[in-house]
Amino acid sequence: MKVGIIGGGIMGISLGYFLSQQGAQVEIFEASSVLGGLAGPLVLGDGTQVDRFYHAILSSDSHLRQLCAELGIADQLRFRQTKTGFYYQGRIHSMNNVVEFLRFPPLGWIDRFRLGLTVLYAQFVRDWQSLEGISVEEWLLRLSGRGTYENIWRPMLRAKFDGGFDHIPATWIWSRLVRMKSTRGGASQKEEAGHLIGGYATLIKAMAARIEAAGGKIHLRCPVQEVVIEQGRAQGVRLGNEVRPFDAAVVTLQTPLFRRLIPAAGQEYHDYLGETEYLGIIAPLLVLDGPLTGYWTLNITEDRIPFTGVIETTAYIDPQYVGGHHLVYLPKYTAPGSRWQQMTDDEIKTTWLQNLQIMFPDFDTRRIRYFLVHRERYVEPLHRLNSTHLIPPVKTPVKNLYLATTAQIYPALTNGESVSRHARQSAQIILGEGPVTSPKMAGVPHEVQVAIG
Ligand SMILES: Cc1cc2nc3c(=O)[nH]c(=O)nc-3n(C[C@H](O)[C@H](O)[C@H](O)COP(=O)(O)OP(=O)(O)OC[C@H]3O[C@@H](n4cnc5c(N)ncnc54)[C@H](O)[C@@H]3O)c2cc1C
Repeated sequence: MKVGIIGGGIMGISLGYFLSQQGAQVEIFEASSVLGGLAGPLVLGDGTQVDRFYHAILSSDSHLRQLCAELGIADQLRFRQTKTGFYYQGRIHSMNNVVEFLRFPPLGWIDRFRLGLTVLYAQFVRDWQSLEGISVEEWLLRLSGRGTYENIWRPMLRAKFDGGFDHIPATWIWSRLVRMKSTRGGASQKEEAGHLIGGYATLIKAMAARIEAAGGKIHLRCPVQEVVIEQGRAQGVRLGNEVRPFDAAVVTLQTPLFRRLIPAAGQEYHDYLGETEYLGIIAPLLVLDGPLTGYWTLNITEDRIPFTGVIETTAYIDPQYVGGHHLVYLPKYTAPGSRWQQMTDDEIKTTWLQNLQIMFPDFDTRRIRYFLVHRERYVEPLHRLNSTHLIPPVKTPVKNLYLATTAQIYPALTNGESVSRHARQSAQIILGEGPVTSPKMAGVPHEVQVAIG
């Protein structure tokens, strides 16, 4: 079977790897000059390669760890104990053990207890479909109470959703609470995060090598213009004036980009795909000469600060692996067409630095080695209340055309773990050996339920 894969991010490369392991002849087309997509690398002015966006691997990412072992790169994984904090009313509050939790100033005793209970309760929810019809606000208010909601949850939700969150189901926060808890392991329950030396690029490179060893081909700087569809069947992919024929075409892009590639797929399918919404992101990377906070994640619960968190990846990446630099990312999630996305890089830099100075009045800007603004319009798929029927299946209505995309990963979060897991499952569907829908999941596309990493 000759399969053309469009997109060389984690999804496309994992899919290429799993398909070629099973004897398919794959050819991967990637528009940019490097593989990796959102998880791809960036080369700094001094030649150091770092992640364009912050990426952590958790010790609970079992599929990913297994994949690294299979590829012989497990010895490149590094894990470190990390810390999480909250920025509240001009101060950083550490939130890493029971004592710190019980001292957390924004909340009274009952609120703290209810916050702890919310995190604990989420770990025991198995029937995620029951959360599908409950809004995230209603669920958090019910479990955490008004005080915690107003002081913690609401500011965080407002920062995350540029344009309201009335329509967002409780599954959104539930899957995050489960993943957040999975950073804490063992009897000590100490938080831990990890990475591959060289970032996700190391994993991608290892898979790419296996694909090529199996006879597959990977083309960089090769944007696909169209998936050619004739008589309801995908015939191949168009690159400029040339059409390359394939037995099957698999698109791994976000649905708004996928739609542009399939003008001949029919209006009904286009309208259906148009229902999927996304959050975009603006995530400047601050390269410093030393640590900023020492926290992996500093959650910001103040509306006046435009970014939603301070993510210092060198809290778990030893700076020796990134040219001795200290890496701090200052992300702001936005609607794809938000006014924030219209701002120039210089405007973002000015606004971000002004706010960083508010948070850290002693911060000396001479410590900044590089300030690089990165942004993307389609990053995180958003699922509305009771909307699993809008999740597009891997098999499309066009014969021999498949879609393997992050919007199909639900309720799990989209990350290296769930994406490569989904790629493996999609490979089975493409090869005609997909899993059968369980009775519990009747009515929900069978590829939708990806286990929480
Ligand atoms: C800020 C941020 C933080 C994150 N943090 C983490 C984390 O801590 N841990 C973790 O595991 N994950 C994290 N993720 C998530 C992870 O990066 C994504 O889930 C994953 O990279 C998605 O991979 P993908 O292949 O589905 O999509 P993409 O990475 O978007 O890949 C799609 C690829 O298709 C290419 N393409 C587009 N159009 C065409 C065309 N016409 N022809 C050919 N190629 C085309 C693009 O160039 C791109 O390379 C984070 C993501 C972001 C943005």
